[in-house]
Amino acid sequence: MTLSHNRFRSMHWFTAVFLVAIALTTVVRLWLSRRHIRHVLANRDAVPAEFEGRIALAAHQKAADYTVAKARFGLWETLTAAVLLLAFTLGGGLQFISDTWGRVLESGGYAHGIALIASVALVSSVIDLPFALYRTFVIEARFGFNRSSLALFFADLAKQAALGALLLVPLVFCFLWLMARMGAMWWLYAWATWVAFSLVVQFLYPTVFVRWFNKFAPLEDASLRSRIEGLLTKCGFRSRGLFVMDGSKRSSHGNAYFTGFGVAKRIVLFDTLVSRLAPPEIEAVLAHELGHFSRRHVWKRMALLFAVSLAFLWVLGWLIGREWFFTALGVHAQGTAMALVLFFMVAPVFTFLLHPLASLYSRLHEFEADAYAARVADPRDLVRALVKLYEDNAATLTPDPLHSAFYDSHPPAMLRIARLHTLQN
Ligand SMILES: [Zn+2]
Repeated sequence: MTLSHNRFRSMHWFTAVFLVAIALTTVVRLWLSRRHIRHVLANRDAVPAEFEGRIALAAHQKAADYTVAKARFGLWETLTAAVLLLAFTLGGGLQFISDTWGRVLESGGYAHGIALIASVALVSSVIDLPFALYRTFVIEARFGFNRSSLALFFADLAKQAALGALLLVPLVFCFLWLMARMGAMWWLYAWATWVAFSLVVQFLYPTVFVRWFNKFAPLEDASLRSRIEGLLTKCGFRSRGLFVMDGSKRSSHGNAYFTGFGVAKRIVLFDTLVSRLAPPEIEAVLAHELGHFSRRHVWKRMALLFAVSLAFLWVLGWLIGREWFFTALGVHAQGTAMALVLFFMVAPVFTFLLHPLASLYSRLHEFEADAYAARVADPRDLVRALVKLYEDNAATLTPDPLHSAFYDSHPPAMLRIARLHTLQN
């Protein structure tokens, strides 16, 4: 009793705040998942009235089972993430990695800093690996979505690691250099670097890197192409090409998207989408994507992200000079690399409760894009396409409202389709 009482009294206030934030985040996550599972199961036995005759009971039940399987597995991921975060911080993991590298590399040097950050990334990926394998080869496979092989899975992993190293090592080096050289205002320079880096990646990813993972063929179907070109002219959209991507190589989930900006703008349809939807439905889905473009959602989202990252870096700029920020989180090796890794590791538990705001913002954009689609295409086609996509992807029609408000980037099916029906002319 006395011992634990003393330990509690000697605990730094920031350690206590951190523990409360982890506990709160984890409990809220678990609670939302449990609610979601209960809600989906409670609605498993009947297709919602709005979808009767359009979605079969068997498909509705498959969606329920798929959603529940993912959510139940997610409970384990949530718990593991909390334990891992505690192990890295208060458990001494970060300090241990830093000490280990300190034996071979000069402590506080660039090599030491990059080795520390790379090791943390490596350890996290290794721990995530069994989860990713289970998701792909057990859950996705059980519901008939997985088309990937182990060879493809590991080839993807190797390419992602190479890409990550290629992009992040120079960025981390830049950050460490700015932190060492630019004095108290380093965070402002780091922010400018981050903005420039993001814009370059935003340009290079769709034009260069994505080809490492997928193949793109020009859209062959002439009648579909002329239909889409008609839509593009109507919307005043000039693109650099219309492509079909071999999404079916990995998964049978379907999608359509735009990538790039300025001269690099391309329209990409997943082959799974082209084979599943009728041409007017593809046109309606594309009209929705054009809605995102015409309302400048990508730019708005980026501007918001840049504003948030400026705030984050400013906070880090302040914290880096406080010894307690390190010691209260289980680290006594202070330094720029340690500050970076510690900050970005613990930040999510302090911002978790802002999730619903980000989701709300995204859902407003989805409604705007739907409204745009309803003007330039037939909203009934979009409804038909959405129903098919919900069915094909086994997406639940009956999410828990609170879970949905917290996490969902897209409005729940019923709300979205009801809104589209009101937009019919
Ligand atoms: Zn959208």
